[in-house]
Amino acid sequence: MVYDMKLWPDSFEAIQAGTKTVEMRLNDEKRKKIQIGDILQFMNTLTQEVICCVVLDKRVFPSFKELYEVYDKISIGYKESEEAKPEDMYAYYPKEDIETYGALAIQVCSLSLLTPKLLVDSGICPTCFDRKYGNCLYGDITDKLIYQDEKIVCFFAGNPRTTGHTIISSVVHYKDMLTAPKDLVIDIYSFAHRLMQGIQKIFQCESVYLCTMCDGPMNHFHIQLIPRYKDEMRGSRNFVKERGTYVLDKEKLSLLQAYAIEENL
Ligand SMILES: [Zn+2]
Repeated sequence: MVYDMKLWPDSFEAIQAGTKTVEMRLNDEKRKKIQIGDILQFMNTLTQEVICCVVLDKRVFPSFKELYEVYDKISIGYKESEEAKPEDMYAYYPKEDIETYGALAIQVCSLSLLTPKLLVDSGICPTCFDRKYGNCLYGDITDKLIYQDEKIVCFFAGNPRTTGHTIISSVVHYKDMLTAPKDLVIDIYSFAHRLMQGIQKIFQCESVYLCTMCDGPMNHFHIQLIPRYKDEMRGSRNFVKERGTYVLDKEKLSLLQAYAIEENL
């Protein structure tokens, strides 16, 4: 979900800079709905500028007094020279409302400062998050996309270990092959089998290696196809070849796209 919120300029700037990481609100009916992984669109009340932040955590307290005891003052928006007092919140919310609803601490991070690790630490799959919110984390993959249907997404790696390094991933989240349903695994490996032949033909490599690890709580099931060229040594070191930068080769991309569709599942 995406929620709109307004912020005073000083709070807005502190969140934008990444010094203020916790937004405080009344835990009323509207705010109760906010979940970890949601997006908050903060608008600067002075300039109308908007920043998008992801919710990394949320905690509810009986009042702002308890909240202030948990978080350091910089993280909730105070400056070093300022004294942090829970009573300051009475300027925003009547005391009776605070007693009725309690206080909500929302840990946020601006999308411009967001890293995959921050999402993983919050129990959010970076791949699913990236796809849900317009490739905001890993960037647009239009110029890498080989194939997509309701089960499979296949694209060239953005940081390839060699030219033609290809990723095949499930659309639905499974953390690894162990937890993915058998039918999906069969579909992905059948697709990989065919695509390997396409890669070998189009990139003129000697072999295509396949690996899948996905070793971690917030990984997203994917397999990797890594070409090995004639001048390269055989062996497992091909799985850890130094990563480079993807360079678009329109001709090879469209040839592989056609190959993926031609013998569709
Ligand atoms: Zn996922």
